[in-house]
Amino acid sequence: MTATRVLVLNSGSSSVKYQLLDMRDHSRLAVGLVERIGEDSSRRKHTHVVSGETREAEERIADHEAALKAMSEELARDGLGLDSPQLAAIGHRVVQGAGSFTEPTLIDDGVVAEIERLVPLAPLHNPAHLAGMRTALALRPDLPQVAVFDTAFHSTMPESAARYALDPAVADKYSIRRYGFHGTSHAYVSRVAAGLVGKAPEDANVIVLHLGNGASASAVRGGVCVDTSMGLTPLEGLVMGTRSGDLDPAVIFHLMRVGGMSVDEVDTLLNKKSGLLGLCGDNDMREIRRRVDEGDDRAKLAFDIYIHRLKKYIGAYYAVLGRVDAVVFTAGVGENASPVREAAVAGLEELGLAVDAELNAVRGDQPRLISPEGARVAVAVVPTDEELEIATQTYALATENS
Ligand code: AMP
Repeated sequence: MTATRVLVLNSGSSSVKYQLLDMRDHSRLAVGLVERIGEDSSRRKHTHVVSGETREAEERIADHEAALKAMSEELARDGLGLDSPQLAAIGHRVVQGAGSFTEPTLIDDGVVAEIERLVPLAPLHNPAHLAGMRTALALRPDLPQVAVFDTAFHSTMPESAARYALDPAVADKYSIRRYGFHGTSHAYVSRVAAGLVGKAPEDANVIVLHLGNGASASAVRGGVCVDTSMGLTPLEGLVMGTRSGDLDPAVIFHLMRVGGMSVDEVDTLLNKKSGLLGLCGDNDMREIRRRVDEGDDRAKLAFDIYIHRLKKYIGAYYAVLGRVDAVVFTAGVGENASPVREAAVAGLEELGLAVDAELNAVRGDQPRLISPEGARVAVAVVPTDEELEIATQTYALATENS
């Protein structure tokens, strides 16, 4: 029997998300989530997609090892256990691969050690990934397990885009450069967008706007990333749900010197209490739009700042690429918030960019064009699917090596 299933694991600091996919038709067999790991109120939810049955439980899950064991038991109850001969591989999402990992990588002791060495660059994420990886390796030591890095797709950025204007000796000593994140999403969405405009990825220039609670833009030339808005960490770039995105670095000195804040306080302010949340008290675009429609000035200002920044990045990446085939919206806000899409391209007709009001208002889960027929540059909505991209990359590497 050919093994055609891939388990995708996304181990976060207090949660584990998983999906079991069948690579013959990319269908989901099971999906699940364990959250609030380490707290008394841990919760888990498992859905056997084939039968539609969902099981939920609230009980303390002490750590990632316990979370993965609970997942493994749930899968076994559905006859989809980790010991199944149909399981071809496990794919692990890893946020930070830095310069060490520019491609999906088969996990061995050396890879685990290197991901550990990169912890200072991703202090919240990489330790959680490692915990998930170690447990999965203990459960199935014989199975190919692959690390797929959020940063990998951006590793092709030229030095002119990847370096900050810092003394290279200082930058290199501390591994400071622009790594970029959400790479599996940018890779997937830019490829699907090329197909939507009838081109091979090698021939298409695409601007991807991944607008979720975290948000990033990328410029993709011929399937290769040439610039992206997140940097050393996910803090740089667009206005996000709770992150400020770009600001003058001197704001930080000012907050510390004049505001008396500590490094950790500034970190929390900029990562967790800024962006849309900091500006208007809400980080959910649905709520912000509702408030805007009711005439709320704070929500309107937050929306306007969000759009202004987004438009600047569209213009910047248009200039970086020179010729653009498609501008693509994805993730929670990009896929659902038609007013964001409309406002982001409003006034850019001279660049060949426009949305058709009717097409933009249509909701759906399929990739679709929202630009007027015959537009010089396509504007599209492409639902992202990071799990499928991780599974695809994992399966390709596992089968190549089997
Ligand atoms: P993500 O991080 O991709 O899961 O995106 C989450 C964000 O998407 C939420 O915080 C909301 O701001 C936004 N979002 C989700 N659904 C909608 C919707 N129907 N309309 C507008 N925004 C939405």
